[in-house]
Amino acid sequence: MPQSIPIQPQVFPIDQDTATVTLVCPHCGHDQAIALNRLDSNKKLFGVKCHCGRKYASCLEFRRDFRKDVELQGVYELESSGQAGLMTVVDVSLSGVGFHPSQGPELDPGDLVKVSFRLDTRTTPEIKRQVEIMNLHQGHVGARFTNVEGLNKELGFYLMY
Ligand SMILES: [Zn+2]
Repeated sequence: MPQSIPIQPQVFPIDQDTATVTLVCPHCGHDQAIALNRLDSNKKLFGVKCHCGRKYASCLEFRRDFRKDVELQGVYELESSGQAGLMTVVDVSLSGVGFHPSQGPELDPGDLVKVSFRLDTRTTPEIKRQVEIMNLHQGHVGARFTNVEGLNKELGFYLMY
């Protein structure tokens, strides 16, 4: 067997403050910090060549609990009735969103809702996800993405900066 990339990629945490990820070679232990903006934002998984000459696969770990305060306009649609409303997304994380509905149907915990909004980055990518309403408190709605496995890379990179 030639030296190969380990099948299981190594998962490395991202440092939000410095916007770097520190990779550690599983073969020799050498570490290197890489600025996130040097990485291809379309890839979550990438191969790294260490100075020891060996390669390994690495995988970025987006912190699911990291919550970013935002103010993004969007729409929501209650799946049970198809009624739609306007909302302002006020926080976003990889696990869900918090929003303030401004017009539209009332929401209850357990409701399934489609949300769509655009990120305020240069390319303004649209995020369209199904969420489950978790809690309501004084006009603030907390909602969780129903499918967190389908990690949204645009959202992931958005949360890193
Ligand atoms: Zn190495």
